[in-house]
Amino acid sequence: MGGVPVKHHSKGKVGRRRSHLALKKKSMLVCANCKGPKLGHRACIQCGATGKSQSA
Ligand SMILES: [Zn+2]
Repeated sequence: MGGVPVKHHSKGKVGRRRSHLALKKKSMLVCANCKGPKLGHRACIQCGATGKSQSA
């Protein structure tokens, strides 16, 4: 059973609430290995480098 709205929410009130729902902007970084664009906290799309020095 779904909840029944007790009071009507105006467009402004709904919009204000939804102003917090937007996804955060993806932080695009430059790969230190191949200088290509990469996402933060992700391995590089092009060369797979994570930014950490890997021994293997
Ligand atoms: Zn790279």
